[in-house]
Amino acid sequence: MATLGEAKNTIEVLNKYHFIFQKRFGQNFLIDTHVLEKIIRAAEISGEDMVLEIGPGIGTMTQYLCENAREVIAVEIDKNLIPILTEDTLRGYNNVTVINEDILKLDLNRLVQEKNGGRPIKVVANLPYYITTPIIMGLLEKHVPLQNITVMVQREVAERMQAGPGGKDYGALSLAVQYYAEPYLAAVVPPHCFMPRPNVGSAVIRLTLHQKPPVQAENEEFLFRLIRAAFNQRRKTLVNAVSGMDGAEACEKDTANTGKRSNRRRAAERTVESVDGPDNRERAAEDAGKCGRSTISREAVQEALEQMGLSSTVRGEALSLEEFARLADLLSCAEKRNAGSTSAEAAAEH
Ligand code: SAM
Repeated sequence: MATLGEAKNTIEVLNKYHFIFQKRFGQNFLIDTHVLEKIIRAAEISGEDMVLEIGPGIGTMTQYLCENAREVIAVEIDKNLIPILTEDTLRGYNNVTVINEDILKLDLNRLVQEKNGGRPIKVVANLPYYITTPIIMGLLEKHVPLQNITVMVQREVAERMQAGPGGKDYGALSLAVQYYAEPYLAAVVPPHCFMPRPNVGSAVIRLTLHQKPPVQAENEEFLFRLIRAAFNQRRKTLVNAVSGMDGAEACEKDTANTGKRSNRRRAAERTVESVDGPDNRERAAEDAGKCGRSTISREAVQEALEQMGLSSTVRGEALSLEEFARLADLLSCAEKRNAGSTSAEAAAEH
């Protein structure tokens, strides 16, 4: 029976094993049965499902998952938690596999292939907040077969994932997540529901994977670079933020260096880096130079915005995913025309 949601039972286990919380692993264990039940409901877990839990901790949510799902795979990085899980809190369940690994290092496509014949699984987790974005974007970009991802994250991150155009929360993370999935905010969770209490608010968000992306862009890699450029300096107008970025052509040198990794995945990775990290424009410009790609001119951006009926002073935060896709297509067309006329001029000179 799932009992660890009661604070006193959690404390008993922690004391029994002299467990010391590791801040570096983002350990805030859930001690609220209502929240646990809400997560299971939001994830729509049934007896048919295979569920991947990221970071089971002492197994609080894992117990609920074992009781509701067909099979559970729990991936935990902290080796001190493994004996607690396998010899104690999960000992009574025969439908769970505990893996002592860093989730970011696991080949999840292979895992789903081996454990579920490649059929889609569900992901449920009270995520370690320090790696929320790489975990979620990794699942989405690597195209792990998934039905949905239901996770506890920092409230602010949940709001950014589901934000629409126009607000302060809207940005590259909103667009990247919404390209792959439909977000639904299932619950807002206060700090007293965890042990120890985090110093930020939390929320449960469910991401239901799209069968196919809601927009069609001719060049997805370029779409993600465009989004990144638009939000790297979000106070700038789109014309200023985007002009000067490298164009849409595939970079042969880059492709050769990265082997099988698709343009799509590389592009989205960089979109996410820009959410949490520094401005990548210098590196992008450097890449463009190395690969002989042209850059996007101010005039091309202005012309494209005009064709879309948008003001030339519009900022990225005003554009929907659909509008970004349209802009990406218009700019890659403009760039192709530009490349065509440049080579014609060069031919004429000879
Ligand atoms: N699921 C438990 C609960 O709700 O009480 C614990 C959640 S706690 C917020 C996050 C868990 O993720 C911890 O057990 C932590 O050790 C684990 N963790 C942190 N980084 C991880 C990683 N890279 N891979 C796998 N597990 C990780």
